Amino acid sequence: MNMQEMEKYRDKLLEQRTSHIKEYRLTRNSMVDDVQTPGELSNVPSHNADADSEGFIPSAAMVSVQGEILREIDDALGRIDQGIYGQCVDCSAEISRSRLDALPHTPRCVECEKQHETVVGDTDAIEETTQYSPDES
Ligand SMILES: [Zn+2]
Repeated sequence: MNMQEMEKYRDKLLEQRTSHIKEYRLTRNSMVDDVQTPGELSNVPSHNADADSEGFIPSAAMVSVQGEILREIDDALGRIDQGIYGQCVDCSAEISRSRLDALPHTPRCVECEKQHETVVGDTDAIEETTQYSPDES
């Protein structure tokens, strides 16, 4: 992927980051209330490529999902800085553009994501043990 493309995705990621942070805070704050319609916020760009647009996840789960996405967005921005954005962190294959368009923060290609989900199951503790250290900069 060339720099121009990476910059395009950087913009996307920064935009998503902003809206996810807002949503994250809102979700956390609304856990005491019964607010279940973060989608009604007028200043949040459409981000419903994610699976949370229907069958709304309970707030507690939302907070952890949002936190996870934020971390992945930060990781993805870091990979842009390193010039390795768009490569699968597991197998180094190029992640397809359609996947990146839908999920710009995704660290893995479809195949590795499937395996990752199988391995991780319902815990994210593995995140600490799968530090990716690129050997080129
Ligand atoms: Zn892969």
